[in-house]
Parts: sequence; structure tokens; C-alpha cells
Amino acid sequence: MERTLGIVKPDAVKAKHTGKIIDAYLEAGLRIVGMKMVHLSPEQAKGFYYVHKERPFFNDLVAFMTEGPVVLLCLEGENAISRNRDLMGATNPANATEGTLRKRFGANIERNAVHGSDAPETAAFEIGYFFNAFELV
Ligand code: ADP
Ligand code: MG
Repeated sequence: MERTLGIVKPDAVKAKHTGKIIDAYLEAGLRIVGMKMVHLSPEQAKGFYYVHKERPFFNDLVAFMTEGPVVLLCLEGENAISRNRDLMGATNPANATEGTLRKRFGANIERNAVHGSDAPETAAFEIGYFFNAFELV
């Protein structure tokens, strides 16, 4: 059993895709064990994406992730991390497989609708960054 962090990013929340994305997680057999909507501050977004702080797109990414509310989800299931990455599709929606969340709802490499942890270590960091033990059922 594994847990991963999913985020419905501000573009997808604004476009009213939250329900469809949550439905896709459930249909894929991922259980929701934590969920909340928040509007991230710049400091919160910078801390979450600190691994990318030297990347040229970092400031734009922080601006994007703070432009409106996001939905944070802790998802659980067997191989939840890689299964969620498969469900999401490639970072650039243009390269994402048909039917994936980023193909369906992403606009471009930045505004790509969803986040998903990429490894057990990052999942543990990311879940702990946003949820405390009492918020996970
Ligand atoms: P992923 O979200 O697929 O794990 P990364 O961890 O590489 O991708 O990047 C984190 C996020 O930063 C992406 O989901 C996307 O929103 C943004 N991003 C990544 N690469 C670029 C880029 N070349 N230009 C603009 N934004 C980017
Ligand atoms: Mg990543």
C-alpha cells in the first residue's frame, strides 16, 4: 500500500474540472484519504517546489500555483505513485497519452492541470508538507 500527493492545479479548478479529476482518481482505484481546498501563498508554493528553485520556470510556476485555489489530495492504493503518474500523463500535455488527465485538461507544459508525486521520498515530503496525521483518514 502506498500514498501519493495529488493537486488539482489552479487552471483546472478555475475551469471547473475538479469533479472530473476526482472521479478519475476514484475510477482508477485510488482511495482519497485526505482532501482540502487551499489558496497557496507564494512562500508555501516556493517551499513545495523547492527542488525546482534553480530552474528558469520557477518564478512563473510559483505565480501560476498561487493565482487561485488548488485542491490537495492524499491518494492511497497499491503502487499509487506510479499509477497516478500514468493517469496524469506527461508533464507537457502535448506529449501526454490520449485519455490522461493532462491530455484532457492541461493547456501547456506549465498549466498542466494536475500534480502527482514522482517517488516514495517526494510523496512522503509532499504529503507531510500539506497534511497532518489528523487530516488523513
Ligand atoms: P511533473 O509535474 O510532471 O513532475 P516537473 O516536476 O518537472 O514535472 O515540473 C513541475 C511543474 O513545473 C510542472 O508540472 C509544470 O507545471 C512546471 N514546469 C515543468 N517544466 C516546465 C517548463 N519547461 N516550463 C514551464 N513550466 C514547467
Ligand atoms: Mg515533479
